[in-house]
Amino acid sequence: MSSFDCIVIGSGNAGCCAALSSAEAGCDKVLIVDVCPDVWAGGNGYFTAGAFRTVHEGLHDLLPIVNNASKEKADSIDMDGYSGEDFLGDIMRLGNGKPDPVLAAAVVDASRDTISWLAHSVGLPFMFSFHRQAYSVGGRQKFWGGLVLCTEDGGKGLIAAHQRALAKAKVAVWFNCPAVQITMENGTVSGVVVEKEGQKLHLRAPAVVLAAGGFESNPVLRAQQLGLGWERAILRGTPYNQGDGFALAAAVGARQAGDWAGCHSTCWDADAPTDAGRRDLTNQFTKSGYPLGIMVNSAGKRFVDEGEDFRNYTYAKFGKAILLQPGGYAFQVWDSKVIGSLRKEEYGNGIVKKFLADRLEDLAEQLTEVGLEGKAEFVQTTKQFNEATRKFQAENPDATWNPAVKDGMSTQSSEYQLPLPKSNWALTIDEPPFMAVKVACGVTFTFGGLAVDPDTAGVISEKTSKVIPGLFCTGEMVGLFHENYPGGSGLMAGAVFGRKAGQAAAKLRA
Ligand SMILES: Cc1cc2nc3c(=O)[nH]c(=O)nc-3n(C[C@H](O)[C@H](O)[C@H](O)COP(=O)(O)OP(=O)(O)OC[C@H]3O[C@@H](n4cnc5c(N)ncnc54)[C@H](O)[C@@H]3O)c2cc1C
Repeated sequence: MSSFDCIVIGSGNAGCCAALSSAEAGCDKVLIVDVCPDVWAGGNGYFTAGAFRTVHEGLHDLLPIVNNASKEKADSIDMDGYSGEDFLGDIMRLGNGKPDPVLAAAVVDASRDTISWLAHSVGLPFMFSFHRQAYSVGGRQKFWGGLVLCTEDGGKGLIAAHQRALAKAKVAVWFNCPAVQITMENGTVSGVVVEKEGQKLHLRAPAVVLAAGGFESNPVLRAQQLGLGWERAILRGTPYNQGDGFALAAAVGARQAGDWAGCHSTCWDADAPTDAGRRDLTNQFTKSGYPLGIMVNSAGKRFVDEGEDFRNYTYAKFGKAILLQPGGYAFQVWDSKVIGSLRKEEYGNGIVKKFLADRLEDLAEQLTEVGLEGKAEFVQTTKQFNEATRKFQAENPDATWNPAVKDGMSTQSSEYQLPLPKSNWALTIDEPPFMAVKVACGVTFTFGGLAVDPDTAGVISEKTSKVIPGLFCTGEMVGLFHENYPGGSGLMAGAVFGRKAGQAAAKLRA
């Protein structure tokens, strides 16, 4: 039998943070076990854009942390601060008031300090996310939507940096090694049973951190928990998050929390592989250009307000909206005015199948080959949208289109209103060439999780309402989010609770 000071289940961002924090806090023998083979190291973290949402005071606060803002570049940046009230307000607002405010505040309050820890102690290579979170307006880089930091080379860079830090801290990582049981003695965690090379091994440890992701990779559980139809969603990331962690936790009496009927899901290339993300393209199947155009379903009808809010606040719920459409797919549509502003990494040549035509009627004809059934409705929807947009512009001649702010350029004028508005960034779709891509629902991660102590990330017992001694939890497994989510909060929450779990775990060393 082997003994460790701390065993972490899962090698994603959250698990790595827990392991590194426990080593830093004094644990000598730290082990991460992961069910996946080593080529899948890093869980969903590998597939991310590496975007971290944090409280900050503005440009001067974050400049020392990033590696891509020279003095000259910094002079061209407009970046407002993002306060604790802003961050907490966003989690609560998007969650329709349902998230536990104390748990959410624990993430928010620790976020900025955790970014410094990640940068300086872990060695994450942070950058300003010019390519995804800023628009160039009048020669200035204007950040929007509260999210400014990402890691260099996205999730690939994030996980590579974690692996360097794990090696330096001498944390052992065992792949192809699922955790199958948490063992208890006298009501206290005593270790983990894992399967290794066909054998069951009982590994002893006074502290175990659950960081095994959600159940998004498991179509049966998705249909059971999220509802029928969710088995058809396309998986954006790792195929190994099968919900094992919740079965392990349930067996030792852990309390559930969070939104078990909810998940993060977004607009995803309809032609992407269905059962796992691709490790070469990772997040490039994301199709986040809808605020610049419109989305229509197979009947040729719009079904969301594409300009309801900044992309960071709508993208995590629009996957569900697409799944609920006939056939579970939709089309994003733009004209030549904005095609050049779509992100190359998502819409570049060879990345996605693009449909281009000089007339809307011809575009509709092409789209019938990939599922558009309402050809005439598609043309009518677009023309009606154009009419509404023109009427707004005629009534508001001073309004200026600006994707870096909520510009109020809408489809709703006193003379004419669409039944479903586009509330910001409405531009006519009338200058050829026209372009469309087909999108489907990509499921990212599930919101159902466990109840934890906000200070230590200790898992709460259903029976006693107290922490289960020795059991901690972080990442997707914490029941924090409900219904919707502010982009960049997943990695941040995993880092905050991972760090707290590691520190608390170190206090349990013999
Ligand atoms: C395409 C994509 C883009 C994203 N972009 C962002 C972004 O830019 N910013 C952001 O904040 N969030 C983003 N997210 C969400 C983010 O990935 C998650 O919030 C975060 O990575 C979760 O971390 P985690 O460590 O909890 O889970 P994961 O990183 O998924 O790690 C869980 C690990 O547990 C392992 N595991 C499962 N069962 C067992 C078992 N029985 N035994 C041992 N190991 C097990 C899995 O193999 C996996 O490696 C994105 C997600 C995807 C898919």
